Amino acid sequence: MNMNKKELFEQVSDMEAQIGQLYEQLGDLKTNLGEMLEENHRLSLENHHLRNRLEKETALEQNLTTKQDEQGDAIGEGYDNLARLYEEGFHICNVHFGSPRKGEDCLFCLMFLNKAK
Ligand SMILES: [Zn+2]
Repeated sequence: MNMNKKELFEQVSDMEAQIGQLYEQLGDLKTNLGEMLEENHRLSLENHHLRNRLEKETALEQNLTTKQDEQGDAIGEGYDNLARLYEEGFHICNVHFGSPRKGEDCLFCLMFLNKAK
């Protein structure tokens, strides 16, 4: 009977030790979980920043593309100059280029203007 009580006491002590270990593991898990949540937060912040930067760089690139398009507008400017020349009364068609229209509309000029537009 005495022996049984001793065994019982030892079993309870063992359980106590195991519970202590489990409690320690639980604490470790809690710490790990906290670190994971922090890491997760840090990563989503970084992701947010990178996304913003990507958007800015994409916008910048689009700006550059727009500027290249503006160089293409030089052709449009040439068209405007020709249209003005025609308005001022000169032929811009390759048939009579540079000669005065004498106040008459020229079909070739108008066709050229429409084509160049
Ligand atoms: Zn003409």
